[in-house]
Amino acid sequence: MRNVGSFTSELTELKRDKKIMSEALLTPTKNIAAQLELLISEQSIISKIAEIADRLNSEYRDKELTIVMIMKGAICLVADLIRHIQIPCSIEFIQASSYGARGAKRGELTIFGLENIQLAKKHVLVVDDIFDSGATLSEVMNRLKVQDPKSLKSLVLLSKKVPRKTEYNPDYVLFEIEDRFVVGYGLDYKEHYRGLPGVYALMMENA
Ligand code: 5GP
Ligand code: MG
Repeated sequence: MRNVGSFTSELTELKRDKKIMSEALLTPTKNIAAQLELLISEQSIISKIAEIADRLNSEYRDKELTIVMIMKGAICLVADLIRHIQIPCSIEFIQASSYGARGAKRGELTIFGLENIQLAKKHVLVVDDIFDSGATLSEVMNRLKVQDPKSLKSLVLLSKKVPRKTEYNPDYVLFEIEDRFVVGYGLDYKEHYRGLPGVYALMMENA
C-alpha cells in the first residue's frame, strides 16, 4: 500500500524498490490524497505480453495485422506488443472516452476517429486497456464490423470480474482482476498515473 499523499518520501521509497524509473513517472494531481496498491508488476506484464505475442505470431502467421488501438489507455500495451510480435503490422487509432475529466465516475461513451480508418479485407485486432462493463469494446466492435474486415478480434490488458449485460467477450485477455479502480501502464485517473510501469489499485482517501 503506498501513500501518494506524502509524496517525497514515497518517491524515494518507490525508487529504492525500483518500482518506478524516474520522478516523471509518478505525477499525482495536486490535492489528491490517494493510496496505490501494486496489483500487477511490470515484469508480470512483460512476461504475459511475450506469451500472448507467441500466440499471435502463430495465429496470424503469413498474414498482415492491423492493430486498432483505443486511445489513450492502450498506449503502453500497444507499444510493448508491437515490439514482441513478428507479424507485419500497421497501427490505427480511435479514441473512446467514458470517464473524461470526471475521474473515476462514468459518463457518456464517446468514440472518435472511426471515420479515419478503412478496415475492409484486413485482419484487425482491436486493443484496449480494460474490459469493465464491456459497453465500450462491444460498441467499438459493432461499429468496426460494418467495415467488413477479413477478421476482427480484440485483446485487452485487463478484464474485471464483474457481472455484465453485454454478451461480447474479448478474444485475448492478459489479466483478470477484481472490481477495483486501477491506474498505471496507460490507465489514468484524471490523466495522471498513465506512466506507472505496473498496474495499481487506486483508493481515494476520503472515498
Ligand atoms: P467499459 O465500457 O468496459 O465499462 O469500460 C471500458 C473503459 O472504461 C476502459 O477502456 C477504460 O478507459 C475505462 N475504465 C474502466 N475501468 C477502469 C479502471 O478501473 N481504471 C481506469 N483508469 N479506467 C477504467
Ligand atoms: Mg479506455
